Amino acid sequence: MNCPYCTNEDTSVLESRGLPEEAGIRRRRECKKCGKRFTTHEKVVNIDLKVIKKSGRVEQYDREKLLKGIKKACYKRKVEEDDMENLVDDIETRLLNRKTIEIKSSDIGKMVLSRLLKLDDLAYMRFASVYLDFADAKEFQEFVAGSKRLTTSH
Ligand SMILES: [Zn+2]
Repeated sequence: MNCPYCTNEDTSVLESRGLPEEAGIRRRRECKKCGKRFTTHEKVVNIDLKVIKKSGRVEQYDREKLLKGIKKACYKRKVEEDDMENLVDDIETRLLNRKTIEIKSSDIGKMVLSRLLKLDDLAYMRFASVYLDFADAKEFQEFVAGSKRLTTSH
């Protein structure tokens, strides 16, 4: 995103606001070179990726859907909207650098989880319970025990 004043490429996001439905994202940016501020209206572009569900069904990757799941998990938690957007950006970059365009939904789930763990414990648990689609309570308890081991051993 280039600065409209001096065309410098290096700008930082001050604020992001999701617009209703498919309208996109409005971002307030600041140019790191000239310091001027401007607003961008960015269209959400879905990357071409096939997601394989646990049932074996294949769906088109949907950024908004993934973001919605993360927002739900972060509901009333102290996680900034920008952090959630950055989390998804980071995952998409990783996904685009892979050789295949297919990915299991559980693999995306794990990518979100490893990042959510750094942001918020409760959001992490909430997301895990929904996204990993545990067979039963026992499987979830085992997962929680496993992640506690992960977080306390370091
Ligand atoms: Zn500038």
